[in-house]
Amino acid sequence: MATVSLWQRTPRIEADVAVVGGGVIGTATAWALGRLAPDLRVVIVEAERLAFGASGRNAGFLLLGTVSDYTSAVDAHGRDAARRIWAFTREAYELSAEVGARHDVGFQATGSVIAAGTDAEADRLRRSRALLSEDGVETRFLDGPAANAHLGSAGYHGLLVVPTGGVIDPARLVRALAAESGAEVVEGWRATAVESEGGRVRLAADGGGEVVADRVLVATNAFLPQLLPTLADVVRPVRAQMLATAPAPPTLAAPVYSHDGYFYLRQRPDGRVLLGGARHLHRDAEVGPDDATTDALQADLARYLATHFPSLADVPVERRWSGPMGFSPDGLPVLGAVPGVPGARFAAGFTGHGMAYALRFGSLAARTLLDESDPALDLFHHARLVNA
Ligand SMILES: Cc1cc2nc3c(=O)[nH]c(=O)nc-3n(C[C@H](O)[C@H](O)[C@H](O)COP(=O)(O)OP(=O)(O)OC[C@H]3O[C@@H](n4cnc5c(N)ncnc54)[C@H](O)[C@@H]3O)c2cc1C
Repeated sequence: MATVSLWQRTPRIEADVAVVGGGVIGTATAWALGRLAPDLRVVIVEAERLAFGASGRNAGFLLLGTVSDYTSAVDAHGRDAARRIWAFTREAYELSAEVGARHDVGFQATGSVIAAGTDAEADRLRRSRALLSEDGVETRFLDGPAANAHLGSAGYHGLLVVPTGGVIDPARLVRALAAESGAEVVEGWRATAVESEGGRVRLAADGGGEVVADRVLVATNAFLPQLLPTLADVVRPVRAQMLATAPAPPTLAAPVYSHDGYFYLRQRPDGRVLLGGARHLHRDAEVGPDDATTDALQADLARYLATHFPSLADVPVERRWSGPMGFSPDGLPVLGAVPGVPGARFAAGFTGHGMAYALRFGSLAARTLLDESDPALDLFHHARLVNA
């Protein structure tokens, strides 16, 4: 067995706040802590490297609202909550735009397009337009032929054009947030336990390292149940797959989210088209945090492109990948206390929509770690699931 010398051993790290997980939520929280309490010593520990998880593998859509259309959000969470979540994600979007103005993170204020795959979805989008208008947000609804003329597409049943929202390079965003946060970043450090130690929180790592902090946020999303099995009810790991084509002629001016979010595509300034989704056609296979693509799902992505954007059907695919998402029981993120470990909290369950919440959610998590109030806490507090 390999031995480890005294000099090689992982040192004990002391911090005021430790964040476990270097994804967009962990780094956004460290970033917000850096703004709210710049004197605190904050450390981010990451099992692999920054943006290794979903935050470095997603489509980079910055959409407003929940993972569902506004009508579905109102039906699921109530009018007031839907309105407040929209405002929350609008703040998150504006914070992303601020970072995008300071750093080369591929931020573009494109607006977004929600396309209907069925007449029923088109009806919901039509109703969303009316509800949003009553709530002070103006969007445009286009019916089938006008929708396809607007997008240069085929086969959509309607379109909601949302003027706010955009796109970003998510991995570069994560690195920019970590750099601006002033936090110490420790990569290759996998937490194996979260426990109390003399009124503080101790994190143990693979290989014997330890971090001791007054406060800890576990921001490992899909991997939460691996570290904290008692919270397995909060997060169900689900896999998402994507592909990227070779550069294609300009086709898409804004990100397109369609079929209730089960398909999503955008075109980068370099012409490459990113397309993800089709998970609903392979529900039994696309579970767990394993990193792999499948021929069957990738063939459905190709079929989708050929159906809705025939001009892109023959563009070669350059890259295929997958990423681990953490689904919560009600589709909203969850912020809560780690049971039995005072001072430790978790943020998880971003349900395929974490970029939309990220920078505002970082402020919420940071305020909670600092024992400060935040008017949005009730929307995302773990108590809603425990008391349901
Ligand atoms: C293919 C795909 C497309 C998506 N598209 C979009 C989109 O366009 N817009 C959008 O809003 N959302 C999208 N999402 C969802 C979004 O990516 C996630 O909601 C968001 O990235 C979650 O961020 P996170 O920081 O909570 O988790 P993650 O990014 O998964 O970060 C968790 C980190 O924790 C680390 N970790 C795990 N266990 C440990 C441990 N024990 N110790 C230390 N570190 C650990 C992991 O290595 C990882 O880096 C998509 C997701 C996928 C997979």
